[in-house]
Amino acid sequence: MSANEHPLGISFEFFPPNTDTGREKLMLARDALAERKPRFFSVTYGAGGSTQERTYTTVKRVRESGINTAPHLSCVGSDKGALRELLASYRENDIDSLVALRGDLPSGMGGIGELRYANELVEFIRAETGDHFEIAVAAYPEAHPQAPSFEKDLENFVRKVRAGANLAITQYFFNPEAYFHFVERARALGVETPIVPGIMPITNYTKLARFSDACGADIPRWVRKQLEAYGDDSASIAAFGEEVVSDLCQRLLDGGAPGLHFYTLNQSAPTLRVLDNLT
Ligand code: FAD
Repeated sequence: MSANEHPLGISFEFFPPNTDTGREKLMLARDALAERKPRFFSVTYGAGGSTQERTYTTVKRVRESGINTAPHLSCVGSDKGALRELLASYRENDIDSLVALRGDLPSGMGGIGELRYANELVEFIRAETGDHFEIAVAAYPEAHPQAPSFEKDLENFVRKVRAGANLAITQYFFNPEAYFHFVERARALGVETPIVPGIMPITNYTKLARFSDACGADIPRWVRKQLEAYGDDSASIAAFGEEVVSDLCQRLLDGGAPGLHFYTLNQSAPTLRVLDNLT
């Protein structure tokens, strides 16, 4: 079954660009990816509201494609009043899907805010706006980096779902077994919500390694070794990355994953190449 035929299908994530060139690139990526008829696009949000305006403007531009576009929203560093206003403004502008997160405050940037964890944000959104929004939350098949244990993190994930999430999107990972294990454990705790794997195309080893260390995503040793061996040979990194990520996606879909969510980094080509390899 191809990704497009899947009931939940595919979705693509963007970040809000801050230059004219970045905005032009995003529109090109949006148009190329819209042709794959994604279920939705989403646009990330800087913790503490640092990209609030840009996220909103980007959502408006991206959804001109006719594809439903969900802003991400994080609660860390924000107060309830500001979140209430933002939710009201989203509703007035016909936005009906959100990705609800705690977020991470850059060090030295203000206090935690009134809502400490994503489950509290989901509760708040439901209390303020009822069933207006379809809410997606984050899931961590390899455990969130700050979690004391996999089990505690799983319990906290279940909390977010019970607070009213409709969908979960995972942090990226390269080991399909981590995903299947997480889904099995969540199902055993009564979670019925679809859990969609988050997919990070591999294009640049240095950036991927840095980011993976920060967010707790494991790059398997054999992948790391091979990518390291390519050094500055970006064509070989891209070709090998495409093979690894296509194989991962195929295994996930074959094993029953209810769709794929791509972290596109505002580029269409790496994601499209992976999609074209899926059968
Ligand atoms: P939470 O679910 O609140 O979990 C954070 C930590 O607290 C975990 O260790 C958890 O085990 C623990 N915890 C949770 N609830 C409780 C509780 N009630 N009591 C005690 N401990 C608890 N970041 C951004 O800044 N902007 C974005 O747009 C963005 N988009 C993302 C999209 C996806 C799909 C994913 C997977 C991540 C995204 N992130 C984004 C990163 C995310 O904000 C960070 O991973 C952040 O550290 C955790 O956010 P969360 O919503 O998962 O937090």
